[in-house]
Amino acid sequence: MKYLLSLFIFTTLIFAEVKINLSHTDIKHGTTFAVILQSDTNLSQAPNVIFKNKTYQMFTINGSIQNYEVFIPVDYHNKKQKENVQVRYLEDEKLIKKNITINIIDGKYKQNEMIFVPKGKVTLSSKNKEKTAKEYNQVFKKVYSVVTLYDLTNNSTFQFPMDSKITSAFGNARVYNGVAKSYHSGTDFRAKVGDEVKASNDGKVVLTMDRFYLGSVIYIDHGRGAYTYYSHLSEFLVKEGDMVKKGQIIAKSGKTGRITGPHLHYAVRLYNTTVHPLQYTTLYNDMVKKYH
Ligand SMILES: [Zn+2]
Repeated sequence: MKYLLSLFIFTTLIFAEVKINLSHTDIKHGTTFAVILQSDTNLSQAPNVIFKNKTYQMFTINGSIQNYEVFIPVDYHNKKQKENVQVRYLEDEKLIKKNITINIIDGKYKQNEMIFVPKGKVTLSSKNKEKTAKEYNQVFKKVYSVVTLYDLTNNSTFQFPMDSKITSAFGNARVYNGVAKSYHSGTDFRAKVGDEVKASNDGKVVLTMDRFYLGSVIYIDHGRGAYTYYSHLSEFLVKEGDMVKKGQIIAKSGKTGRITGPHLHYAVRLYNTTVHPLQYTTLYNDMVKKYH
């Protein structure tokens, strides 16, 4: 018995095992992937992931210091190439580095989505240029540059902000008044002025404002680098600092900002990178079901 016990301790020491899984390794540009680390012993320090020279801290799953995850965005402009994902963790005080190759593949987004809007919304006057730059700085300070290092979703899955038809998908290459401009950075849901807009998950309202392109917009922080926002609204039903629950009615839809007609533009921003909202939702919810 004594022999068996010591053998058991011996084998667990030798075979302390760390498993690293990626949600997938063929990743469309403009989407998200997840890295999961599972150790059979406690880790003295949270592991991290290096991807494209940026360090992403991994987060505990359900408070366990054996299981960690992180969701990482692939920028829309980062196309068709192999990239290295390096996972770093401490094992007996020694830094272990594991490298995994991923393929960034073409998202095959729609090309040439034609949009017609008033001329002043495409070619900006110097006054409007100043206004949009000022807006950007304000949002950067309160949203884009801030990563809340804990979960604000209460371990809950994401849902869509409305139950209506998607009228324009994320990633469409957009042509405004005949000139190729940018890509669609969110998902559009069909809505009239005054329809109910719901929070897609628990979180904190960190900013409400009126922007030149997005119109009236609400930014919600879900923690761990993830924000959702809801734009072209006609009415805010929450204010900055409010904690909101998933499904809570936070606003009424509208037609404010650069728009051809009323709808809801819903976006997800992860570590200051806009990502495909529906893919993020599916991936996040799958990971919660599988690992939480
Ligand atoms: Zn949109």
